[in-house]
Amino acid sequence: MKRYDVISIFPEVIAPYAEASILGKAQKKKLLKIEGHDLRKYSKDKHKKVDDTPYGGGAGMVMTVQPFELAVDTVRLKKPGVLKRLLGRSKGTPSVRVILTSASGRRFTQSDAKRLAEYDQVIFLCGRYEGVDHRVQEAIADEALSIGDYVLTGGELPALVMIDAIARNLPGVLGNAETLNEESHGSEGDLEYPQYTKPEVYSLKNKQTLAVPPVLLSGNHKEIERWRKEQLQRPE
Ligand code: SAM
Repeated sequence: MKRYDVISIFPEVIAPYAEASILGKAQKKKLLKIEGHDLRKYSKDKHKKVDDTPYGGGAGMVMTVQPFELAVDTVRLKKPGVLKRLLGRSKGTPSVRVILTSASGRRFTQSDAKRLAEYDQVIFLCGRYEGVDHRVQEAIADEALSIGDYVLTGGELPALVMIDAIARNLPGVLGNAETLNEESHGSEGDLEYPQYTKPEVYSLKNKQTLAVPPVLLSGNHKEIERWRKEQLQRPE
């Protein structure tokens, strides 16, 4: 079973999304486990503080290294004990990747989703406030990833976005393997063609009528395939 652990000062935001729909079903099937962990629990500060003022001055607070280090050490999957290995209940040292969510990290893509799906465990570190002490990126995380060129209030949504994209690549998570093959950003980097469903003609309240492209009703599969290939472009 794959593990996705999210370390955050708002761990309660993870479960509502992770327990719904496809991710929820995959968790029930024990294909994966998604868990939020409270960063404050790992703070050695007597007031459970996880941030401090920035060196060099500037606005806002910066999250400190210590709670992230202890949280990662604690949630990281450990090498199985001798007994488990002897009984064949474990396949050796688990592969673990630690990701710092960061607006200035490298842009997360579909190929990262596929790559990260190979690990036994991915641990996501979520910043808040002005961000995270850079030493977390240098020494605790394996890489820093951004989900796009905009700034969010925290790393929880980026972690969920990445987990969702990763999980779709795990065998058994999607009902139909075909669905994955024909999707946007597939092996050839294509985008998906426009999709239509019933009714053939839909009338808006303002009387405008919206018809399905006739080629899709033609039954001519070669023509349909050609039309779909022509549509594979992202709007400007
Ligand atoms: N001062 C930081 C900057 O200018 O890049 C922004 C910090 S942001 C308010 C707080 C946290 O949200 C970050 O530490 C990161 O964990 C997360 N975050 C914000 N935008 C993100 C993005 N586009 N991708 C990934 N993580 C993001």
